[in-house]
Amino acid sequence: MRYIRKFSLLIGLTFCLSACLSPMAVETAAIAEDNSWQLTLVNPWTTIPEDWTVTLEKTENGHQVDQRCASDLADMLAACRDAGHSPVIRSSYRSQTTQQQLYANKVAQMERSGYQGQAAQDRAATIVARPGASEHQLGLAVDLVDRSYQVLDKKQETTPAQIWLMEHSWEYGFILRYPADKSEVTGIIYEPWHYRYVGKENAKAIQESGLCLEEYLEQLTQAEAAAQTSANLTAQPTQEDWQNLLNRFYTFLCSDQQTEQAWKELLEQGKLFLDRCALSQIP
Ligand SMILES: [Zn+2]
Repeated sequence: MRYIRKFSLLIGLTFCLSACLSPMAVETAAIAEDNSWQLTLVNPWTTIPEDWTVTLEKTENGHQVDQRCASDLADMLAACRDAGHSPVIRSSYRSQTTQQQLYANKVAQMERSGYQGQAAQDRAATIVARPGASEHQLGLAVDLVDRSYQVLDKKQETTPAQIWLMEHSWEYGFILRYPADKSEVTGIIYEPWHYRYVGKENAKAIQESGLCLEEYLEQLTQAEAAAQTSANLTAQPTQEDWQNLLNRFYTFLCSDQQTEQAWKELLEQGKLFLDRCALSQIP
């Protein structure tokens, strides 16, 4: 009986609110430009999306990239040259077939140096991504080197072009994708030549945070979840919310498990609803 009395009180308290609730608001938010392609993740554990399509645009020396990053790449290379350096594109877009060939070559090289079977494949994959797991297949990655030193090794970081690129690439929407201290997270060795386009806004945020792409995406996901929770808590209550609340109370009353805990949770729901009404300035 005490539950019935409490319920009646709550209903009495909230009854007037149902009349005050405005009809469900019509969502009219403008559809924001979809920039999610910029953050498409491809790594040893995440292969290129099956529906990924790329429109290629020719850039220097017969190289091709996704047309959406072509002008920023051209701007970056021009600025690097204006600063007195000589950057060269060593690698750009790769098809699945090309990636397959590169990977097979690296596995063979590993086998020649003593690795066998799976070990050779795993070792090769830390240097050349497995087919389907290379960012080059997106068309959003380029390997850039200094004309004076075109070897892909650690020494690349000491070349003038590379020093400039590491400092300024973010201004053009590119990040050094595989930093020295992030191999555990990226699954790829330090590559002071591989740049990935993520758009200027993301590149700036990544540069400032010191995160690698995987960590940045994780942080974005968490921030979105928190924002969604917050939005749910403060969104103006609708008739549907009110119905849901009533249904919960009804279900509770019909239940033969009317525990103290269940009642507490229901009251919390009711209080939350009232708080949302108050926040929405419903009198
Ligand atoms: Zn690369």
